[in-house]
Amino acid sequence: MSDETTLYRTATRTHTCGELRAADEGGDVVLCGWVDRRRDQGGILFVDLRDRYGRVQIVVSVDDSPEAHATSEGLSLEDVVRVEGRVRLRPEGTRNPKLGTGDVEVVVKGISILGKSDPIPFEVSATASSEVGLETRLRHRVVDLRRPLVQERFLIRHKVTSACRRALERHDFVDIETPTLTRSTPEGARDFVVPNRRQPGTFYALPQSPQLFKQLLMVAGFDRYFQVVKCFRDEDMRADRQPEFTQLDMEMAFVEAQDVQNVVEDLLADVFRATRGVEIERPFRRLPYAEAMSRYGSDKPDLRFGLEIQEVSAIVARSGFGVFTGTIERGGIVGAIRIEGGAKQFTRKDLDKLPEVVKDAGAKGVAWAKVEAGPAEAPDEGGKITGPLNKHVTGEVRKELLEAVGAGTGDLVLFIADQTSTAQNALGVLRNHLGEKLELIDPDALAFCWVVDFPLFEVFEDDDGQPQHAPMHHPFTMPVDEDIPLLAEERWSTLENKGVIRAKAYDVVLNGMELGGGSIRIHDRELQARIFSLLGISDELAEDKFGFLLRAFRYGAPPHGGIALGIDRLVQLVLKLKSIQDVIAFPKTHGGSCLLTGAPAEIDGTQLTELALKIQAPPAREKEA
Ligand code: ASP
Repeated sequence: MSDETTLYRTATRTHTCGELRAADEGGDVVLCGWVDRRRDQGGILFVDLRDRYGRVQIVVSVDDSPEAHATSEGLSLEDVVRVEGRVRLRPEGTRNPKLGTGDVEVVVKGISILGKSDPIPFEVSATASSEVGLETRLRHRVVDLRRPLVQERFLIRHKVTSACRRALERHDFVDIETPTLTRSTPEGARDFVVPNRRQPGTFYALPQSPQLFKQLLMVAGFDRYFQVVKCFRDEDMRADRQPEFTQLDMEMAFVEAQDVQNVVEDLLADVFRATRGVEIERPFRRLPYAEAMSRYGSDKPDLRFGLEIQEVSAIVARSGFGVFTGTIERGGIVGAIRIEGGAKQFTRKDLDKLPEVVKDAGAKGVAWAKVEAGPAEAPDEGGKITGPLNKHVTGEVRKELLEAVGAGTGDLVLFIADQTSTAQNALGVLRNHLGEKLELIDPDALAFCWVVDFPLFEVFEDDDGQPQHAPMHHPFTMPVDEDIPLLAEERWSTLENKGVIRAKAYDVVLNGMELGGGSIRIHDRELQARIFSLLGISDELAEDKFGFLLRAFRYGAPPHGGIALGIDRLVQLVLKLKSIQDVIAFPKTHGGSCLLTGAPAEIDGTQLTELALKIQAPPAREKEA
């Protein structure tokens, strides 16, 4: 670390707190750092000095330097001090092999306090064991960020972004900034808006993504663009969302999906090599959306474990189980998950809890069958089962069913029956729950995949039961070539047929989390106009909102595509952390506030007047963490 070229040596210090070793014995040094710990042994004070690079022990003795000793007696934890002294080997038996600097200590000749600390709200030292609540940590984020464990996360975050940048530079990407004060970019969330003082009544929108600008940069001929960029989405916050977040945003000209995916795989390989020191397996598996949904019940499947979903509608349609046959008659499906050896593992109480697990996904229940004897062992009955299906799924149908899901003696089979998307989602939730409960997930595993061929349109019913359409990705996404003629048909516009028109859209998924998503874009004005019209965006509205993009397409637009990766999420996965707040230096609470600065806050009357704004209702004040 004491590399001459790194300029650790400054006018104020000769070394950092992490670099002294036995070989430095006898050297005169000047160190600066925070008081991490201090122990008074009557006449001799031991102080651990800490900075970003590590921790070193300094010794102040009243006999050697009475003045320094007097100053040190007044030291508090987290005071910033400058120490002059000489390095000596620690006496045998007092060395600390766990500490980089553990062979040495610095005998102090002089000490000065550069920055005094008030009593600290919680201990910073890595040796401190007490748990600190999130609210306290965020309120005192500066002290929190000083904790070595917390600081380490941001050093890793830096490694992630710098590995991304290096990889992209290697592939000739250009870093170009796009505006933050701009117009709405549709990514499916609400905009944060900024009032404009110069033209009262007009507003900028903060970008939900730089989508349109990066497409313009392709039309402008930059060929490959990237940016580590803040994006803003005003969403009701779920546990793991932040109103502002960082994306690695990229765009490339003259590419197909595969080319964008190659770059991303190369970049992610660098990231995991630089941070975790592992080689990830490439190429990533590709899963069409329809397959991801039918086999894993999710468009971000966790591939670290099996428990695949199997559709058994065709078989159970012939059973006497009304719940199943009724659902199928109404156009729904029945899906099953087999748990090997699950019959013993799951008590009646466990099974009774399962409906609660899938409730939020909209499923009404979970049916189950414990296989007492597989079809091979009890051929006359087609297998012996217990549970609600026992009476109604019998004989040949039972045999076929158990064989289809591969269930033998001792297994448990769980079923969900519902409309296709509800059933799939619920089975996906159930599958993830089972993966965790049965401890099938290796926390060190890295299971990447690409989910491809997303439906172009999201179809949902409005309050009157009428189908409504929204882009599944965003309205600039290119349909799969052979599906373009289908745009002329009405078929795609129903709920159950939403996947008929596929998009050249892809998500990169890691361990059941979406790391990022992108697509090949429409670069043809006519097709873009047609998609807008199918989405119910009138010509006038399209012109008003996206006219600048459509006009740019008139002057020679290359085919292009790109992707954006969520940096916060990526760092979270690299570090295997549960909360996204842990990887953002100054995060917001789930309620969207910054406990450090008190944002968001009211603005004063003068500002309101300048902006020609009037507050209609006093802001509701909620206390939240
Ligand atoms: N703009 C998209 C997003 O932010 C990413 C992309 O299509 O490149 O999700």
